[in-house]
Order: sequence, then C-alpha cells, then structure tokens
Amino acid sequence: LDPLEGGTFKFSELQVSLAGPELLKPKPDVSNLIFGKCFTDHMFEVEWNVEGWGPPRICPLHDLNIHPAAKVLHYALELFDGMKAYRGVDGKIRLFRPDLNMQRLLRGSRRCLLPQFDPEELISCMKRLIKIEEEWIPHSETSSLYIRPTVIGTDPSLGVARSMQAMLYIILCPVGPYFETGFKPVNLLADPKFVRSWPGGSGDVKLGSNYGPTVFVQRAAENSGLQQVLWLYGDDHQLTEVGTMNIFILIKNANGEKELITPPLHGLILPGVTRQSILELVRGWNEFKVTERPVPMKEFLQLKEEKRLLEFFGAGTACIVCPISGVSFLGVNHHIPTMEQEDPLYARVLNTLSGIYYGRISHEWSVLV
Ligand code: PMP
Repeated sequence: LDPLEGGTFKFSELQVSLAGPELLKPKPDVSNLIFGKCFTDHMFEVEWNVEGWGPPRICPLHDLNIHPAAKVLHYALELFDGMKAYRGVDGKIRLFRPDLNMQRLLRGSRRCLLPQFDPEELISCMKRLIKIEEEWIPHSETSSLYIRPTVIGTDPSLGVARSMQAMLYIILCPVGPYFETGFKPVNLLADPKFVRSWPGGSGDVKLGSNYGPTVFVQRAAENSGLQQVLWLYGDDHQLTEVGTMNIFILIKNANGEKELITPPLHGLILPGVTRQSILELVRGWNEFKVTERPVPMKEFLQLKEEKRLLEFFGAGTACIVCPISGVSFLGVNHHIPTMEQEDPLYARVLNTLSGIYYGRISHEWSVLV
C-alpha cells in the first residue's frame, strides 16, 4: 500500500482502555507549570504498515517500544504539530481551527513519505482523548491543554529510504503561560550566521529535524542575555520568524498610513494557524493595510530610524502574541518601541484571539470538544 494513497483509521473503530486508579497521577498546580514536562494519564496511538492502518487506541501513557534501527532514530523521519484545548469561561472545552493543524500534519507526513489519513477521523479521536482527560484542563485563562500529535517512521531498518512502518500518536500536557517572563516583551538575537530554512528545504512543514539544530542557536541568544532568535534569510537578511513564531511588523508607511506586514508563505516559514488567523481578523477589521511581503533588515532598521516602526511581535499557539522590544544585530542592540504605543495592535490581537479561545467571543473558528 502506498502511504500517500488514501486509506485511514476510523474513529468508529477506536479502542479505549483506561488506566486503573493506581496509575492516575495527581493534577499539577498550573501556576508553576513548566511547558512540556507534565503529561496527562492517557495517549492516543495508531500504527501503520504496508497493509494499512491498524486499530486506533486510547490507552494509558506509556513508553514506546521501537527497534534501535527505527528510521526515526537515524534519519529523523518524524513530524509533529502543536495545538491547544481551552476551558472556556462557560466551562466548555474548545479547540481552535483544528482542521488547519491537521492539514499541516498531513503536508509534513507527505514530505517525509509517511502515511496519510482522514483528518476528520483524527480530530474525532483527539476529541475523545481530550474528553477523557478533561479534568487536566486548567480552570484558568492563561492556561490550556497542549496537544502534540506526532508521526514517526518506525521501520526497523537502516538505510536512507522511506519508512514502511509508522506510528501516529497524541500526547497532552497541561500548560501555564509559555514564557517565563509572561507577557513581558522579549529581546532577540539576529545573527546571519545561522539559517533556519532555505528554498527547497522543509522549513514550511513541522519536521522535528527543523528544530533539533536550533537549540544551539537559542543557547547563543541566551548566552547574550537575549530570550529568542530572530531567523534571517538571504543576502538582504530578510526577517522570517522568531523562535517558533511567525512575525508581524506594524509600520507607518510612506503615505503615512498604518500597515501591518508579515513575511509571505514562500516556503521559508511555517504557515502558522495564528498567523493566518491574525491576517484574517485584521483584514476583516478593514482599518489599515495588511501586506504579505519580505522585510529585509536594512528596511527594518531604516523604518526604526525614521520612527515609522511602531510594533514588532511574534505569533504562535504557544504564546498567542509575543511583543518584541529589542533586536541585537551585528553587535548593535536596536530598541523597538512596541511597548510604547498607545492602544497597541498586539494587545488588541491578543485579546481578540484569547477571547475566541476561551469562549468570551463566539466565533466559527472555535470547535467544541
Ligand atoms: N513558526 C514555527 C517555526 C513554529 O514552530 C510555529 C509553531 N507551530 C509557528 C511558526 C507558529 O505556528 P502556529 O500559529 O500554528 O502555532
């Protein structure tokens, strides 16, 4: 069976085996939760081989048993996604545009020649898992349940080739505010020595192999007292992404109008669900120009010099929106006046999106679990 040709597991065949009371863990105090270290009691898993998908299962969280030659361990045949479930102010649990995360997962899986599936079936299985773990979802508007769908190539053979066995699983983590600094602005290292993504590469899909090599660069930022990396690309040092976030720049353009700019989906950046949603929201407000185009560092610094650079922020599921107050480029720290604006756009976007996530604003993007 060609993994890229149809075939799916079915929610209707989902097998559920719940952990006995002796396996259930105490729920954490969300106020001091560190991202990604605490997991719920159950996981979802389904295996694939040349005969197709096996039965999907929800079972107690467990270690994986894979062969030491498994392709994921040698050639990083792996991809994942990151999304969240939120406990709304009405107590109901919501997902945000899960279809977009599923499309991204499927694109990444195709890029690794890992198997395809029906995204609706995975969303149904995911909802069931979240329902089982409902008590883990914090009662707090700065917290949520992080959802990590993952696909790995488990074929027990060496050799750089497609994996004829795979596994898809979902694990869940309750999370508090993402950055240690909360919603305080961050300062960035922009060092052209480091490149995250390039034309023809895989920076536009969520492969684990895009992320491993970035931890070294993140440490370089931290060693300089900075919080995140601003990823540059090309001879003109285009600003592409920040850490694991898409970027937005609010400027006063040559006509004196406000304009919101974000880099285009030209294969170098991950198509963020938050990015797409911010573009759709702000275009819907119809108050100022919204443009998708590359921004070279020279233009960025010139805008700043001319005091036409108003705001710079990152956007992603983890933090929603993250204001940026400084960029360190070639040894010079450039202050960005994001926090000095009256009625800043980043805060308005943050309030609107979190209003949708937590059910204060009803919106078609919310999906009840
Ligand atoms: N860029 C990168 C490199 C990322 O890893 C992420 C997180 N998935 C994003 C942007 C933001 O995407 P999203 O809004 O879907 O979380």
